[in-house]
Amino acid sequence: MGERAVVVGGGIGGLAAAIGLHRTGWEVTVLERADVLDDAGAGISLAANGIRALDALGVGPAVRAAGRGQYTGGTRTPRGSRLSRMDGAALERALGTPVVGIPRADLHRILRSALPASCLALGTEVTSVEDLEADLVVAADGLRSRIRAALFPGHPGPAYSGSTVLRAITAEPVSLDSDFELTWGAGEEFGHIAFADGRAEWHAVLGSPPGVRHRDPLAVLHRRFADWHRTVRYLLDATRPEDVLHHDIHELAEPLPSFVAGRVALLGDAAHAMPPHLGQGACQALEDAVTLAAELAAGPDRAAALARYDAARRPRTGAVARAARRAGRMGPQLTHPLARAARDTALRLAPSGATVRAILRHADWTPPSLVPRGYSDRSSTAGDSTQSAT
Ligand code: FAD
Repeated sequence: MGERAVVVGGGIGGLAAAIGLHRTGWEVTVLERADVLDDAGAGISLAANGIRALDALGVGPAVRAAGRGQYTGGTRTPRGSRLSRMDGAALERALGTPVVGIPRADLHRILRSALPASCLALGTEVTSVEDLEADLVVAADGLRSRIRAALFPGHPGPAYSGSTVLRAITAEPVSLDSDFELTWGAGEEFGHIAFADGRAEWHAVLGSPPGVRHRDPLAVLHRRFADWHRTVRYLLDATRPEDVLHHDIHELAEPLPSFVAGRVALLGDAAHAMPPHLGQGACQALEDAVTLAAELAAGPDRAAALARYDAARRPRTGAVARAARRAGRMGPQLTHPLARAARDTALRLAPSGATVRAILRHADWTPPSLVPRGYSDRSSTAGDSTQSAT
């Protein structure tokens, strides 16, 4: 029998870690407190680093097939004038893939299908890691990680970012003239991601005290965005009121001193929850998953492997989290009229290619090899186990 790993949490990070460990010879169980795993109702964009990590896990082709390449779009003002253009084709030339937009439910389905059903224990809430019988515990239990709180009792935990987000997927296919767009007002953002089936996810980021909720959030958004450009109103019109999700955005503002404690490795939002303004939280969780499995496969000394995982992942995720915070301050959180005017002018004057270079800074990540030393590839997935995006 191989070594035994227990993954706590069946989100994107936990499922990806389970796939990586399973493929490299571990006996894996995922313990998930929810009865159903689908994260339905919202979408996600995956930059090249996330797609490459999925390739390394053997599920990249399925995700690309179910997703939609984001080729056109950029940023706009509320009146609709263009601030910057996204060049998905240039990104694809540079990185081997454009950003891919996909409903979260589809991504979950693909990740789940890469694991034997017997790996998943749904409706199972972990209250302590002490009793888990495992050589390795992966804490992928998200922003409000109970395991993190127990292992690092002095850490302050999640902090409110100052912004709240409402989002939904349109009820039916919509006709849009761009794949991905962000529109910035004074301290607010409206954006969309188009999906392969013609539907789209939109989101509205608003500055707000935490905990504020509305009886009819869609009506509130219709009023708030009444004089914004046509696409914004069109997407709100295409949405059923009951489909609107509302979450306050929290982050781990203070970095953890380590992503490892004994036999426990923290991963994804449990380790480094960041604001969503770069669309990198899940991509970083996917990078974590591949790196963890690869380091553990690289040699028999588990403690050394976990130390290498920590050394690789903390600086990387810290830098991306800081960049995500900066992106929030320069985007949806910017309120001062002069600062907004200066930003808008800088964006309009930026040479073509500047947006591509900004995305490349974080997305150009190459996964370590997942081929285990001394093991044969025990994958049960149909995908290709080698990374082919570059
Ligand atoms: P989670 O998805 O939170 O999963 C944790 C899992 O653990 C859950 O299933 C939970 O039920 C389970 N769990 C918790 N406690 C226990 C317990 N005690 N026992 C058992 N199970 C437990 N990222 C991108 O890369 N691209 C994007 O476009 C993007 N957009 C975003 C938009 C918004 C509005 C937000 C808020 C985030 C966005 N992100 C994006 C970030 C991304 O959603 C997260 O970083 C990612 O989903 C984190 O995955 P995770 O598996 O670490 O945590």
